[in-house]
Amino acid sequence: MLETMRHSAAHLMAAAVQDLYPEAKFGVGPPIEYGFYYDIELPVTLTPEDLKKIEKRMLQLKNKGLGYERIEVPIDEAIKIMQEKGQTYKVELLNLLKERGSTAVLKETGDANVADSDEAEGASHVSLYKTGEFLDLCRGPHVESTKEIGVFKLMRIAGAYWRGNEKNPQLQRLYGVAFETKDELKAHLHMLEEAKKRDHRRLGQELGIFTISEEVGRGLPLWLPNGTVIREELEKLAKEEERKDGYLRISTPEITKDKLYYMSGHLPYYRDDMYAPIEIEGVEYFLRPMNCPHHHQVYLSQPRSYRDMPVRLAEYGQVYRFEQSGALSGLMRARGFCQNDAHIYCTFEQAKDEFLKVMHLHARYYDMFNIEDYYMLFAKPDLHKLDKYVDEPEQWAAASKVIQQAMDESGYPYEEAEGEAAFYGPKIDFMIKSAIGTEYAISTNQLDFLASERFNLTYKGQDDKEHPVYVIHRAPLGSHERFVAFLIEHYAGAFPTWLAPVQAIIIPISDRHLDYAHQVYKQIFEAEVPTALGGARVELDDARESMQKKIRNAQRRKIPYMLIVGDSEVESDTLSVRYRSGVEKREVPVAALIDRIRTEVKSRRDLGE
Ligand SMILES: [Zn+2]
Ligand SMILES: [Zn+2]
Repeated sequence: MLETMRHSAAHLMAAAVQDLYPEAKFGVGPPIEYGFYYDIELPVTLTPEDLKKIEKRMLQLKNKGLGYERIEVPIDEAIKIMQEKGQTYKVELLNLLKERGSTAVLKETGDANVADSDEAEGASHVSLYKTGEFLDLCRGPHVESTKEIGVFKLMRIAGAYWRGNEKNPQLQRLYGVAFETKDELKAHLHMLEEAKKRDHRRLGQELGIFTISEEVGRGLPLWLPNGTVIREELEKLAKEEERKDGYLRISTPEITKDKLYYMSGHLPYYRDDMYAPIEIEGVEYFLRPMNCPHHHQVYLSQPRSYRDMPVRLAEYGQVYRFEQSGALSGLMRARGFCQNDAHIYCTFEQAKDEFLKVMHLHARYYDMFNIEDYYMLFAKPDLHKLDKYVDEPEQWAAASKVIQQAMDESGYPYEEAEGEAAFYGPKIDFMIKSAIGTEYAISTNQLDFLASERFNLTYKGQDDKEHPVYVIHRAPLGSHERFVAFLIEHYAGAFPTWLAPVQAIIIPISDRHLDYAHQVYKQIFEAEVPTALGGARVELDDARESMQKKIRNAQRRKIPYMLIVGDSEVESDTLSVRYRSGVEKREVPVAALIDRIRTEVKSRRDLGE
């Protein structure tokens, strides 16, 4: 198994480090996605050159075909052995294991490999593994011989506090990747290279999509004109698609009294994740961390009968959550963001079909954005641990069944994960992959049976009695912030015409073509093109620069169409169209270019070349 091989590589790295730095003290070294790491205390700060040396030593040890020899010992003997070796962190782990069991070790170190999992009580025996001269506290398993470890590469060094606590010493975390074959490693490195080129933080600045100002505050992105165009196109899309599915649009304020969050259950538990309150007339008001409670109030604004159901309320709603500053990352992780939110209020009988419709909506969007690789991740509650959520096993089971049926009927791929449901109902995360294969969770669907009780959400049935309402939370396009960050990476900034902030730029070859250029501009500007702004987004580059320079500028801005006008174009009343890809078409009538843009905008799909 890949994970076993990667974990075995962590031992190999530790063995190499111990060879080169006998004073090294080892923390933990679990496998991670693509590879492994090990936290190590060293008398020197490692440089990239040192990593190369360690990697070389690893290769030498690997080729010796060292084994992973298992030694079972009473825990007190293990403590003695590690004490003699001066491995103080291992001694600490062993004591933790002895007193509080492996659950505590996992919780504090994030390493599941130290000892057999899920023992809340102290351990009496442990296993040690010996690879060459290196002895580690580990439960295994490993490969049989270091020769079975495929190709690996040490990537980088970062600081990491021991047991994740800032009060503890900082260790050096050495990251490596490991794969079965050279080609896989190569593909991975290529992906990393691409991801760097497509980094939304860099491209987002270069393309004028967003900026972050320290004066405004961390995690509060400012959308620049180009980014705002993309937002508005996404909102137009959402409005059109939601209209087809019977949603009604609403608009609600971004703050609310504390009372609403006591009703929803966000207070007092989630206070730390919210912005501190503002006091007005002796009442605390919070910036909203989600839109649901506001929407529930809209639902409650009038009596509802079975004939009104389902009620689908949609809003692109701005919310604020307090994230640690270390966790912030451009648009991907912000403190203020605007969600493609909606809540569907329905009867239990309607829940499955409504859930299914939401899945189809996701699929329509993915098709439109050429997101080919996606699946639903279904978080089922672990019914044995229900008190962790709320003690309503029948409700949980019924809601889970609804989701399960909808998933099966949808035919879309899904996976299940036990014990990770949200606290007010089972949920599905939609996992999508960008064009370079990076996976993101952009949106979540929830089936909520608790809101009805907490907010007294009911409808009058045919029997004239009040019945509880089921609430579906959904946000297929996530937040503008996360979704646009994803799209920047996915398209490498080269947005399809319908999303491109500037769709066409006119480049006159010299001043004597300016009149004609203005004429063309007017024609395109005034043409009927159904963008969010009510017309094509066209620019005229009349700067006193060479044509080549203007083309390079337009290419850097990733504008889909460069319209070059010179003598022959003026003469024939046409354009030379240069596509972003480099393809050139001569003698294109202006009307034909407008048609092309219109078709691409309407269908939200680029035509071929
Ligand atoms: Zn191990
Ligand atoms: Zn919600």
